[in-house]
Amino acid sequence: MMNNSLVKTPMPVQPPEERNRNFGEVALGYTAEQAMSEAARCLNCKNRPCVGGCPVSVAIPDFIALVKEGKFEEAYEVISRYSCLPAVCGRVCPQENQCEKFCVRGIKGEPVAIGRLERFVADFHAKEGKTPEKPPQNGRRVAVVGSGPAGLSCAGELARRGYEVTVFEALHVAGGVLVYGIPEFRLPKDIVAREVEGLKALGVNIVTNAVAGRTFTVEELKKEGFEAVFLGTGAGLPNFMGIKGENAKGVFSANEYLTRVNLMKAYEEGSETPIYRAKKVAVVGGGNVAMDAARTAKRLGAEVTIVYRRSRAELPARREEAEHAEEEGVVFRLLANPKEILTDGEDNVVGMKCIEMELGEPDASGRRRPVEKAGSEFMLEADCVIMALGTSPNPLLKRTTAGLETGRRGEIVADEGGRTSLEGVFAGGDAVTGSATVILAMGAGKRAAASIDEYLKNK
Ligand code: FAD
Ligand code: SF4
Repeated sequence: MMNNSLVKTPMPVQPPEERNRNFGEVALGYTAEQAMSEAARCLNCKNRPCVGGCPVSVAIPDFIALVKEGKFEEAYEVISRYSCLPAVCGRVCPQENQCEKFCVRGIKGEPVAIGRLERFVADFHAKEGKTPEKPPQNGRRVAVVGSGPAGLSCAGELARRGYEVTVFEALHVAGGVLVYGIPEFRLPKDIVAREVEGLKALGVNIVTNAVAGRTFTVEELKKEGFEAVFLGTGAGLPNFMGIKGENAKGVFSANEYLTRVNLMKAYEEGSETPIYRAKKVAVVGGGNVAMDAARTAKRLGAEVTIVYRRSRAELPARREEAEHAEEEGVVFRLLANPKEILTDGEDNVVGMKCIEMELGEPDASGRRRPVEKAGSEFMLEADCVIMALGTSPNPLLKRTTAGLETGRRGEIVADEGGRTSLEGVFAGGDAVTGSATVILAMGAGKRAAASIDEYLKNK
């Protein structure tokens, strides 16, 4: 039976006043009944506009039709033909700008909750589904450097085609930003671990604490018998503003702050990694990273203000993340920009001198350029400042890999299929595009796997 409701089946969530004091997941997931009822809103459109909005072209109406009939494991099989991280994508993809943006149901009401249904199906499979079997191996070895979504999806695709894949990861845990950046309350780490275990079952070998450019070079990997190398090293180098006071005690990049909390569990009693317990935190930036840092600081007991130089309409963060942050008590100081970080005699942060902004003509990004309002300086009290201003690829691989072409911001130059300037070396994800999204990194890893397969078959 069709469900003609104009709105999505609501997602059960932890109440804001409770969740802003714990690190448990905010959204709790649909029950089977809720998932089937939401799936019954789908019109199974002939021209499938939602599929066109998905960067990896998941057969959305097909999997939703199976959810509607209660065939959840079959629905998982459909999704897994296109995506190797559905439990992750169902949670963190910006669906409102992708599949759901094109959903026909969205014309007169809310689109079908495609992301929530994907998450339901992936979580069902994790509880009830089968572990994948290791496919027959072809004896050819491929190295993958970096274990974020780009590296993991490249490794998974190649393992399914019979290659012997080894993933080298600089950190002590696999998952990239999924484990060190995105907080537990949005993406529980056991979900990422589960996806990594699935890859291991396919035969992927994961070596942690292995830094390309330090522990070994790309050339050495080739000499050791890896016939192709995929570089999925991400964009983990934080940007700063270059203003006075940025080196003071109490100023963090969002990456460092989040890594301490997410990866090192600095908030847990007895953790060996210290965390800076601040009372008033200012977070500079308006993207997902800024929201994550702000909501983390809130959970650690601080009063938190986000300082962003444009208006609400230009906030680059997912709408849901900004709304969740606000519900949890994070204050937004929009159209404002820091000028200087203020310190006491011992170089501790005591506040931030800011200036109000207004929006002028559109800039190269198409967004209206923020300009300072003369004479509008103001002080913001803070004992901690977190800079969430974007990141760039780390220059280590460029410095240690002769002939690897890189662009102006240090990004590796690669074509649509991930081919770089070096024969047998491929790249994809944030390392090529600069910081982007999980699904785009995954798509790039998948396309590179197809190119590697083609390259090795013709070699
Ligand atoms: P990464 O995930 O960065 O993985 C790269 C891996 O390579 C890392 O594990 C790194 O340790 C390793 N590495 C680096 N150098 C070396 C080396 N020399 N040797 C060995 N290993 C190396 N996207 C969304 O779609 N939705 C969101 O809600 C969202 N929220 C985000 C929140 C935060 C806090 C951050 C930081 C990013 C967020 N993103 C989000 C962006 C998304 O996570 C990234 O675009 C995506 O993870 C990029 O994947 P990747 O595989 O290219 O790189
Ligand atoms: Fe279903 Fe929306 Fe896709 Fe149509 S556009 S098939 S209603 S999800």
